[in-house]
Parts: sequence; structure tokens; C-alpha cells
Amino acid sequence: MERGERILKHVDEDAAPAVQKRMIERGITIDLNLSIERIDEKEGGFAVTITQNGETKTIESEKVLLATGRIANLDGLNLDAAGVAYERHGVTVNAMLQSSQPHIFACGDCIDAPRFAHTASYEAGIVVHNMFAPHPQKVDFDKNGWVLFSDPQVTQVGLDEATARKRGIDVSTYSYDYAVDARAQIDKAETGFLKFVVDNDNGIIVGITILSEDAASLAGEAALIVARRLHAMDLLGVIHPHPTLSEAFGKVAQQIFFASMMQKRGGSHGK
Ligand SMILES: Cc1cc2nc3c(=O)[nH]c(=O)nc-3n(C[C@H](O)[C@H](O)[C@H](O)COP(=O)(O)OP(=O)(O)OC[C@H]3O[C@@H](n4cnc5c(N)ncnc54)[C@H](O)[C@@H]3O)c2cc1C
Repeated sequence: MERGERILKHVDEDAAPAVQKRMIERGITIDLNLSIERIDEKEGGFAVTITQNGETKTIESEKVLLATGRIANLDGLNLDAAGVAYERHGVTVNAMLQSSQPHIFACGDCIDAPRFAHTASYEAGIVVHNMFAPHPQKVDFDKNGWVLFSDPQVTQVGLDEATARKRGIDVSTYSYDYAVDARAQIDKAETGFLKFVVDNDNGIIVGITILSEDAASLAGEAALIVARRLHAMDLLGVIHPHPTLSEAFGKVAQQIFFASMMQKRGGSHGK
């Protein structure tokens, strides 16, 4: 049961429907555009009252899993006494992760930033550096990534296509379809793709989206490419062992290279 028009609203528009399709194939019913009014405990389970299209109805179930997100837990820290500014989404920090009291830093789930274990560790490294080293570092969440351990899995590193476009970045996308991939065929896991989002101004790969049964295993290379602001040319000389899902990185890089050749000859490129 989801309030919005689609599930996984933060997930790439090409990847989310594939996860939804698999859920439906597995017998899960997905109800969209509704509001949950109340949940009552009853004998043997729960009664969930919802409103949908102006109609109120009750759905009975054995169990309820409520997954509506998290907010920062600032209770009991008495931040007002320390003069540390905060709002509903967490402690207010600048790019160096300093709070309104410059000698007090904040990082992790208590600030308004991507809430992941690895992001918290990254931020902690920046905080420790900025506490003790002479030249302050700024956080760069544009290289952050995450894995959705769904079926199939989704890995997102850097900007997805929609976010890049919303920010006004002129991007092209290039995709490799795992339906034609040797490893995917051997594993009978052909659903999926690997997509690069490339900034047309400078050729930098600003985002990578991967949909695959094993997208998590590709997160490391994707993270390196985006963090190091690599171009397709940087990947052309990399030898990816066959048959592995990682060959897709080279295939997309080749596609970009050929597209740029075509463009030089007056053709079109990207989407
Ligand atoms: C169910 C679940 C699954 C998750 N799965 C993933 C995942 O697969 N991958 C991923 O990257 N992230 C995942 N996360 C998110 C990840 O756990 C958090 O983003 C990460 O732990 C944040 O680290 P943190 O140090 O900021 O906060 P925490 O790990 O919450 O640590 C904060 C600590 O501060 C302590 N504390 C709180 N208040 C006080 C106080 N007043 N005084 C002293 N101590 C205090 C708490 O007890 C806690 O030990 C998941 C989160 C949840 C809830």
C-alpha cells in the first residue's frame, strides 16, 4: 500500500518498474494512490483502514510491516542549551559538516543527508579531517551511492537521469541490456541493464544505474567511476574478465566512444 503514484519513487524510472513487475509476478498486490487512515489490532491480525479515490475500506491481514521512513533522533541531546541549530530533518550543518557552533560537528543519520551506513562513515572521515587537518574538506553527495536489495537488485551511484535533468545538466544516457550478456544468460538472469548518465558539456560520467539480479556486486566499480569523475575513454583500456556482469562497463564505454565518432561525422548520439 503506497501513498504515491508509484513505488520506489527515488529509484530510476527505468529500473523501478522492473522491480514492481517482479513483485507482482511473485504474487504481491500493489495498491497505489491511497492514504492509510488507521491500523486496528483484531483477533488473529490487523484491520488496516484506507481511503482511495474518496472511498474508505478496510483490509484485514495477519501481519503489518510499516516502512514509512526515518527522521533524525535528536531527543535528549538538549541542542538548544548548546546553541546548536536544527530542524525537523536534523542538525543544521554546512558543507564542512560544522553545526551553527563551528567547533561542534554532526554527521550520519542526525543530519539531512542520504541516510546510509557507508555515507555516515564517509561523513565521519570528513569530520575527523576537518577537526584536525589544516585544509577543510567539503562533502560531495553527488558521488554517493546505494544498493536496493530487491529482486532484481538496483545499484545507483551518482545522479540518476531524472535528477540530473532536474538540475539542468545536459546529459545523454547510454545503456547495455543484460538480455544479450553472456554471464546473465548463463545465470538465467537476463532482466536488467547498466546505464551511464553522461554530462554532455565535459563527457564526465555523473551517474550509473544498474538493474540486475546481482547489481550489488557492481557497486564498487560504479562508485570508483563516478567518484573519480571518469570519462568513457578512461574505461576503454580496462579489461573486464569474461563472462562477468562487469563487462557491461566496457560495453557502455564503447557505445559512448562510437557515438562520439558518429557525432564527429554528423550523426546523433545518446538518448
Ligand atoms: C532496518 C534498517 C536497515 C538498514 N539497512 C541499511 C543498509 O542495508 N545499508 C546501509 O547503508 N544503511 C542501512 N541502514 C541505515 C544505517 O543503519 C544508518 O544510516 C547508519 O547506521 C547511520 O549511522 P549513525 O552512526 O549516524 O547512526 P546510528 O548507527 O544509529 O548510531 C547512533 C548511535 O548513537 C546512540 N545515541 C543516540 N542518542 C544518543 C544520546 N543521546 N547519547 C548517546 N548516544 C546516543 C545510538 O544508541 C546509536 O548507537 C538501515 C537502517 C535501518 C533502520
